[in-house]
Amino acid sequence: MLGLMQDWPLLVSKILLHAEVAHSDVEVVTLRVEGDEHRYTYGEMAHRSRQVAQALTRYGINRGDRVATLAWNTYRHVELWYGIAGMGAVAHTINPRLFPEQIVYIANHAQDRILCTDITFVPLLEKIKDALTTIETFVVMTDDEHMPETSLKNAVSYETFIAGESGAFDWPEFDENTAAGLCYTSGTTGNPKGVLYSHRSNMLHTFAGCLTDTLGVSAFDVVLPVVPMFHANAWGIPYATPAVGAKLVMGGPNHDGKTLHKLIVDEQISMTAAVPTVWLMLLNYLRESGEKVESLRKVVIGGSAAPRSMIEAFEKDFGVEVSHAWGMTEMSPLGSVGALTGKTSKLPWEQRLDLKCKQGRGVLGAEMKITDEENNELPRDGVAYGHLKVRGPWIAKEYFRHEGGDILDEEGWFDTGDVATIDPDGFMQITDRSKDVIKSGGEWISSIDLENAAVGHPDVAEAAVIGIFHPKWDERPLLVLVAQNGKEVPKDEVIEFLRGKVAKWWLPDDVVYVDKIPHTATGKIQKMELRQQFKDYKLPTY
Ligand code: ADP
Repeated sequence: MLGLMQDWPLLVSKILLHAEVAHSDVEVVTLRVEGDEHRYTYGEMAHRSRQVAQALTRYGINRGDRVATLAWNTYRHVELWYGIAGMGAVAHTINPRLFPEQIVYIANHAQDRILCTDITFVPLLEKIKDALTTIETFVVMTDDEHMPETSLKNAVSYETFIAGESGAFDWPEFDENTAAGLCYTSGTTGNPKGVLYSHRSNMLHTFAGCLTDTLGVSAFDVVLPVVPMFHANAWGIPYATPAVGAKLVMGGPNHDGKTLHKLIVDEQISMTAAVPTVWLMLLNYLRESGEKVESLRKVVIGGSAAPRSMIEAFEKDFGVEVSHAWGMTEMSPLGSVGALTGKTSKLPWEQRLDLKCKQGRGVLGAEMKITDEENNELPRDGVAYGHLKVRGPWIAKEYFRHEGGDILDEEGWFDTGDVATIDPDGFMQITDRSKDVIKSGGEWISSIDLENAAVGHPDVAEAAVIGIFHPKWDERPLLVLVAQNGKEVPKDEVIEFLRGKVAKWWLPDDVVYVDKIPHTATGKIQKMELRQQFKDYKLPTY
């Protein structure tokens, strides 16, 4: 027997429709690429998104066509996001930090018809324009006054593109499984692969993201997603904020500690989210300047493991609650969030900190399990570690254009490529990427744990651990460090610092200093490149 409830397709345009009637006057603030500040309301955003949908329709964009953006977090980017998806086309957010050849590959693979770009990226696009074979028109996200001279095909300013439209447009209704957005994973191995989000998956992800123990945003909040829209949908924040009526603040191209601090103080930001490297810059700025962040209630840290020292600094020194989150582009991206439970919140501080260093508990809708090499499920005892697998309504079932073939097992589980433990309270901890784990004498050493312990040293700016060939143990850890302010702590001192923080047999066999550790376009340490750099390295314990 079927239920007798209404069929109300889960379409992202419904978020804007809701925002328009429920909190039309709530502000959206942007530090613009043009260098000034822009303010308006969700009411105006909804109106301009409909203008975008009208302009695209007039242009000849059809349902299912891909319209790309190469842009920072701004109000125009959000308008485009809703306008494109709302009319039934696909909003393809491209990460500008990718290599130019990867951008070419992605735009061609997606068969993008229009590319909307910030002024910042016009010179980059001019260099690769001839290789972008499917793009008919470039929309430059500015007004005519700031429009640069450009050789880009059919270049038009965004404001001119939408200017003639009235905004009188009814969002169409269609199947909630229709594609809404496209985002390519950085693809550390092989070509980047497209994750094709649907309206339904985005809406369910939004409902789950707003829950108190997930992102926990409300109409009381002022939210600054530093994480870019091109990095896994800015973790769903530009959907969650208009959904609940939180004020949204967009930093445009600015990510430095000083600007972020000013924005936090000026706009009284209560909640913000980004990868650890961003928070490192902010914490450094706060320490150097002696400034505070009193309005800040919560910071969400994800994308890479948040070091213990970072969580401790936010919570103890600045009174900001840390929410350690884990996810992937393939997961829209939220998988788990580190909110404590009634029981665990009563633990002593050090034990609570231990739990906060874990990547959190699974969100309803993101089922998780760990398995051994033979796909047998491992116990949730906090000790057994294995391949982390997930399934749920906002997790990819295949990549765009079936790239990479079948990606689910027979029971529908997706292998995240991460290695993790899950404890009896449901807290999951990533110990490594399966390809980065160090295999020493048949046991696994977590490179993440070692790195996090090392950056706890005040004179260490960044740390990476890779496995180096060893004739007896197969692999042993090499600790690669970037010194803070040029102060290189001697090897013995580093090892002493780590002693007691990790198992004795995990202690690195050697410590080397580099000027810079290579990063991927989403801010992760590029282990492959580092392994290549040290491929002939001979450990002193050899
Ligand atoms: P990319 O496109 O670079 O793969 P993703 O954001 O999709 O970008 O990367 C997902 C991966 O990032 C995860 O599988 C995991 O390895 C890592 N990751 C994300 N969040 C965390 C976290 N909190 N701690 C440790 N690793 C994380």
